[in-house]
Amino acid sequence: MAKHQRVASDLHKRIRTISIALVKKYINARLLPPAFGQKCLDCGTSKQLVYDHRDYWDALKVAPVCGSCNHRRGYVPIPVLDPDTLEVRTA
Ligand SMILES: [Zn+2]
Repeated sequence: MAKHQRVASDLHKRIRTISIALVKKYINARLLPPAFGQKCLDCGTSKQLVYDHRDYWDALKVAPVCGSCNHRRGYVPIPVLDPDTLEVRTA
């Protein structure tokens, strides 16, 4: 893995941790309803709900989804800046 990809990956992990912690803080402060008790945005079930991020940089943009749909949605792509072209790609 090239250096710029390692840096992007490390930053992605840090932003992910912060985003998840922020959502928990909002739930604890009752500023965001818990995922539990809602319906999955993808399949409609009300079982095993969690909040899913699609972009950790947009920390409070979350969707309630069940465990199966969360797994199906997969990992959030990591934005990587290519130092040669200065274009952002996802890895
Ligand atoms: Zn679902």
